[in-house]
Amino acid sequence: MKIYSSTLDHMFTSSAMIPSCDPHDQPGGIELIEQLTKNAHLIQEMVLDEILKRNSETEYLHDFMKGEREKDLFRDQVPIVDYDKVKPYIVRIANGENSNIISAKPIVELLTSSGTSGGQSKLMPSTIEELDRKTFMYNILIPVINKYVKGLEEGKGMYLLFIKPEITTPSGLTCRPVLTSYYKSRHFRERPFNLYNKYTSPDPAILCSDNCQSMYTQLLTGLIQRDEVLRVGAIFASAFLRAIKFLEDHWQELCYDIRTGVISSRVTDTSCIESVVGKILTGPNAELADAIESECKKHPWEGIIKRLWPKTKFIEVIVTGSMMQYVPLLEFYGGGLPLVSTMYASSECFFGINLRPLDKPCDVAYTLLPNMCYYEFIRLKDEEDDAGGRDSNTIVGAPAEEVVPLVDVELGCYYELVVTTFTGLYRYRVGDILKVTGFYNAAPQFKFVRRRDVVLSIDTDKTTEADLLKSISATKPLLSQLSLFLSDFTSFADTSTLPGHYVLFWELIPSTCTGTSKELEILLDTKVLEECCAVVESGLDSIYRRGRSRDRSIGPLEIRVVGNGAFDALMDFCLSRGSSVNQYKTPRCINSGDAVSVLDEKVIGKFFSQKAPHWDSY
Ligand code: AMP
Repeated sequence: MKIYSSTLDHMFTSSAMIPSCDPHDQPGGIELIEQLTKNAHLIQEMVLDEILKRNSETEYLHDFMKGEREKDLFRDQVPIVDYDKVKPYIVRIANGENSNIISAKPIVELLTSSGTSGGQSKLMPSTIEELDRKTFMYNILIPVINKYVKGLEEGKGMYLLFIKPEITTPSGLTCRPVLTSYYKSRHFRERPFNLYNKYTSPDPAILCSDNCQSMYTQLLTGLIQRDEVLRVGAIFASAFLRAIKFLEDHWQELCYDIRTGVISSRVTDTSCIESVVGKILTGPNAELADAIESECKKHPWEGIIKRLWPKTKFIEVIVTGSMMQYVPLLEFYGGGLPLVSTMYASSECFFGINLRPLDKPCDVAYTLLPNMCYYEFIRLKDEEDDAGGRDSNTIVGAPAEEVVPLVDVELGCYYELVVTTFTGLYRYRVGDILKVTGFYNAAPQFKFVRRRDVVLSIDTDKTTEADLLKSISATKPLLSQLSLFLSDFTSFADTSTLPGHYVLFWELIPSTCTGTSKELEILLDTKVLEECCAVVESGLDSIYRRGRSRDRSIGPLEIRVVGNGAFDALMDFCLSRGSSVNQYKTPRCINSGDAVSVLDEKVIGKFFSQKAPHWDSY
């Protein structure tokens, strides 16, 4: 490896560019962050050098660079692409071709992203080395949080973590979500503090494939150890709220188990049982059951987290991006506990960490670590324009000044993230829109703005406008049975219920009469409209259907039929808020509570899906 400076040489002792990071060495960890951020530019150049050195002979790169390795040639010749351009290579690997068509290091598994392509999860390549890279990211988070919150090592963390199903490709490669892959690894079992028993969830409970048994067991062990718990969390805010809902439904049963010292018969997984009975659930404890019961009986459940886990210092969940919608509810249950979003990561690669973990959710910024992958940024001159504008598959020959490297992004500007990874993705558009909100040393810090094109999201689902249009169109034959057609629609993610659900506002016009609200009401056949809800759901992608059917993290889709003129009222509302008359288009998703109220006033019928959509695999 070319040596750039003695400090960096010391930091990166292998071509994987993963610095050693001892999570128990506080000053060492902080110093490492200093070095990484101060040398962001050099490290990025080293990362690209290394990736090109390794992979110049892959079919993918060779097509564009003819075996050359120059970084400028790469930036000049290799196109910026979406998943559709990568997919044929992934499919070939899945079908048994050698993975060296994209990566010199063997691809050992495919990670199923929550982003979809053609209704199915996108599959991201991964190598053995990646687990070390992820472990590095988790390790470096520890000195950061310890800098702001003292004494965490003196107690336990209640992190509610879950795995998801996996499948195998024809060539025998495993396809599974990135966190399932990590949780099943030695790296996770041997994670810092786990060896000292500092987490309340036993590994077998996290690894139990039945999410309901897993949740029950993790809550049981979390409640039993409540006096030792100093922090609680899950990955995303939606998952943590799901756990609160589960607790609301099952606290009596959980307390009964604690009172009697016998685990409920709902837990049948032997590894789960063995990890709890006699080890954490060691006998009847009426006093503890009474204390928990008395808190759970009090309504409302305001501050329940603080009441049940009184020593908790924060709730660690991602509350940025689409999870921002859950902040009010988390604040309610958390009773003022800080909400901590620690990292920004994806199946493609883990990207950045939050260096000020106690910042308010709206101020959270992530510092992208320069050794994780090679970053580039497509400048979005007008963030608003981008929503409809940049949806072609490839930007070939985009003006060079539109695409900038990590250290050249400008404060206050918006960018779409493009990555080149160690695992065979080259100039790949992740689909995330970020805004530069500051710098830490030479490393920019980004606020997560939104996912490109996504209009609706409750949990890990990401429904685009195109998905929504397609699935709504499929209801046309049903509506014509009622002599109705859809004249306009919009939607919103209703998270006031747990779980949240999609709401569609539909303006329906009768083809046989003038369409006053009274006439329309007569035509609204409940069975048919409920079927419309089900048809829309079955047309949404596999992540939505999994959330609805298997994980139950999404509630039944609702259609609210609005009377004539409702969408005119919405337009008037949008114009009053500054939309231009000439350019006005009905927004396919509304985020403002006021806009929802405008339409709600005109609702003449509400209908819910009565059956969960089919879901069986990726
Ligand atoms: P997946 O590919 O399913 O792993 O999802 C990764 C995506 O989740 C990212 O590309 C982001 O869109 C989103 N995401 C991950 N971390 C965060 C975060 N801290 N804040 C907001 N969105 C995030």
